[in-house]
Amino acid sequence: MSKSAGELSARQALAEVSRLCYQRGYITGTEGNFSIRLGADRILTTPRGVCKGRINEGDLVVTDIEGSPVDPHAALPSTELKMHLAAYRLRDDVLAVVHAHPTIAVGFTVAGVSLSTPALPEVVCTIGGIPVAPYATPSTDEVVQSIEPFVKKCDALMLDHHGALCLGKDIWDAFYKLETLEHQAQTLLVAHLLGGPKPLTKAQVNSLMAIRSVYGLTNELDVDYLTGSE
Ligand SMILES: [Zn+2]
Repeated sequence: MSKSAGELSARQALAEVSRLCYQRGYITGTEGNFSIRLGADRILTTPRGVCKGRINEGDLVVTDIEGSPVDPHAALPSTELKMHLAAYRLRDDVLAVVHAHPTIAVGFTVAGVSLSTPALPEVVCTIGGIPVAPYATPSTDEVVQSIEPFVKKCDALMLDHHGALCLGKDIWDAFYKLETLEHQAQTLLVAHLLGGPKPLTKAQVNSLMAIRSVYGLTNELDVDYLTGSE
């Protein structure tokens, strides 16, 4: 069956973001999974067990909203696709999901150190706090239960001892949030090495919230996760 122009451009963008995540070191080996919502019952996603650094448009899989491939002869999707499906089920505004294992951000969860320190104005404005969903065995329904409360009100979150999950209005929006999240982790790591971060104050965070609309930022943020100084 021929593919629509919308699906072809979604395939190009998804393959490009997959390769970029590998090149940027956000995933290694065959890790990571990415998806785009094509329609009410159609998801385009990366196949299971394939290095995303070498992926092409034709390697991607179309599934229904339950995660079953539409073409029975197609490759299988990732076992972690259920996280993406939960985000699509819970949020109508989410049209793309990226899941990767960015080293420094994951290192913060392994060390039990918060990523929700308001350190950089652009991070506060674009993704707000970065909560950590409790540890759950990867690829199980436990993961879905652990992320649900956070997915409802955040576009960028961590899975404890595992990885990052970022949601967007398109695949680039989700990818940029992943970059912002790992950049926050890198910056905080340097600040910790230099004696510890000195967070923005609550008043400074409130001022940033007030100017978000100037930058066209309308996504929901849960600033309760931010732990600013008085
Ligand atoms: Zn993972």
